[in-house]
Amino acid sequence: MIEIDSVSKWYGAFQVLSECSTHVARGDVVVVCGPSGSGKSTLIKTVNGLEPFQQGSLRVDGISVGDPKTDLPRLRARIGMVFQNFELFPHLSVRENLTLAQVKVLGRSMDEATASGLKYLDRVGLLKHQDKFPSQLSGGQQQRVAIARALAMDPIAMLFDEPTSALDPEMINEVLDVMVGLAQEGMTMMVVTHEMGFARKVADRIVFMDHGRIVEDTPKDEFFSTPRSERARDFLARII
Ligand code: ATP
Ligand code: MG
Repeated sequence: MIEIDSVSKWYGAFQVLSECSTHVARGDVVVVCGPSGSGKSTLIKTVNGLEPFQQGSLRVDGISVGDPKTDLPRLRARIGMVFQNFELFPHLSVRENLTLAQVKVLGRSMDEATASGLKYLDRVGLLKHQDKFPSQLSGGQQQRVAIARALAMDPIAMLFDEPTSALDPEMINEVLDVMVGLAQEGMTMMVVTHEMGFARKVADRIVFMDHGRIVEDTPKDEFFSTPRSERARDFLARII
């Protein structure tokens, strides 16, 4: 589903990604972790074309992301992305946040978009908040709306970049629970997170990055029991 092959990227002379390769099969959950500045956000943003790269190849559902002929907005519409800071439209109600891209990007009717949006809003437990504005919701609720908004587009895969790191501790689990549910239903997911409880529960593989390189790409159990690199051992010792 997501095939990243030897992808390299530079900012000027600074190499931010060095020959990164990893494949995410349909229905798999891959957790990406590693120290700050190791390139996790950059990697995940290359997957839906938010960050261009200079070398290597990257395909999502067989479509080449780096190919200038690829209709990136169209591909992006099929890949859900959830960021650290929710990024809801502050001037729109929850319901309008849920329907906007479905209507504008997918060309759905407002009725269709509302039906899909409210289905997922219900699924994240927030149906009764549909008329509120983002500022009237807690951080955890806003992030669940952001997830519902992404799901309402019927994505083929979901990308998450530290979806809980801006949340107060008591709100982290309500967001992780939604993500665990998605994973268990077979959604293809790439998740940058340091929530190792989440990783233990639902990850198939862990990708560990350091200085722009993927230094480990291992089945979850192996990563936790016998991390191969010293960097990963240090990292685990610090965060668990
Ligand atoms: P964090 O855990 O702090 O979110 P990260 O692993 O997501 O870190 P990235 O945000 O991908 O790391 O950044 C990787 C490196 O690229 C960092 O050293 C960062 O300073 C650098 N970088 C990111 N964006 C740019 C940019 N626009 N121009 C130059 N350097 C950048
Ligand atoms: Mg980051």
